[in-house]
Amino acid sequence: METKILDANLDENIEICAEIIKSGGLVGVPTETVYGLGANALCSDAVVKIFTAKGRQPDNPLIVHIAAPSDVGIIVKDIPAVFYTLSEAFWPGSLTLIMKKCDTVPDSVTAGLDTVAVRMPEHPAMLNLIKKSATPIAAPSANLSGKPSPTKAEHVKRDLYGKIQYVLDGGNCRVGVESTVVDISGDIPQILRPGGVTYEELAGVLDIVEIYNAADDLAVDAPRSPGMKYRHYAPKAQVIAVVGSPEKTAKHIRQRFEKFGKGPKSSEKSKKIAALMFDDFAAENQSIVTFGAYADHNAQASGLFDSLRKLDNMNAEVIYAQVPDEKGLGFAVANRILKAATTVEKL
Ligand code: AMP
Ligand code: MG
Repeated sequence: METKILDANLDENIEICAEIIKSGGLVGVPTETVYGLGANALCSDAVVKIFTAKGRQPDNPLIVHIAAPSDVGIIVKDIPAVFYTLSEAFWPGSLTLIMKKCDTVPDSVTAGLDTVAVRMPEHPAMLNLIKKSATPIAAPSANLSGKPSPTKAEHVKRDLYGKIQYVLDGGNCRVGVESTVVDISGDIPQILRPGGVTYEELAGVLDIVEIYNAADDLAVDAPRSPGMKYRHYAPKAQVIAVVGSPEKTAKHIRQRFEKFGKGPKSSEKSKKIAALMFDDFAAENQSIVTFGAYADHNAQASGLFDSLRKLDNMNAEVIYAQVPDEKGLGFAVANRILKAATTVEKL
């Protein structure tokens, strides 16, 4: 099967993709966070195809996308009061809410959990597609499992070529990192995954919000945030995340460049080195990819995954990455780099 990119601005293309969703097929879909791989969320056979195409572990549940807050009742029961506070403040947008699921939601979507993840995205083409498909759409990121998430239609085409018929091209993703996942099924809202809506924004509208430490999931049989235990977002190369002030991390990486690529063959020092650095701390070097200025978390988020893919295409063997401070959107960007990393060096 050939995979084609369709312009999401044309209504007829949305119609074509809605027909595919209705008939139980898969479509690459644009959202403001990252591109998704969409299927009818209420049809188990369709949902199972997502896991096969991505090579995703069946114990990693999916996010279900709806076109209006009032549609939440199709898939959720026992809607808590805090849902209305959060959906009014942040929907449409990059906030996913975990609540108790209805029986209509197949187990394949939720990996057997009694809760479901729901989001109303902001991207007009995705909202249009959900409405025309007349069903909620389950959609994880449209990358092969473990790889950097796609933020352009061509990323989806490259990862899933031959596995899907169409990718709807809605342009570059505005946010560039995935949604924030907040569990509101218990007494206290808990952030399970940082993302496009920041901790500070959530704390601005909630009396209390906790950050769940996903590392705790490794030790228990029933993980709260199943997806966070896997290595994610990772290029082929070994990624070394360097944490510290931008001055120190930039100096450290410059020193690595002086040593690497120069050692005897097959030694660590003979490896091809590359780096992911802030615009304002990078030296002029073709093995360095920049992803926004140190103070510009929006640019870092929207540039991160494309930059990781560029580093992959350069066939780097070791990638040193500067890690932003964890304020605002920096929290999500740092989380993704640390998840992609094989090693963390703290300076
Ligand atoms: P992705 O769609 O690839 O961005 O991943 C979806 C994320 O949402 C993963 O980290 C999942 O673990 C998380 N998620 C989905 N459903 C649930 C749920 N019912 N409870 C907890 N986390 C969930
Ligand atoms: Mg993903």
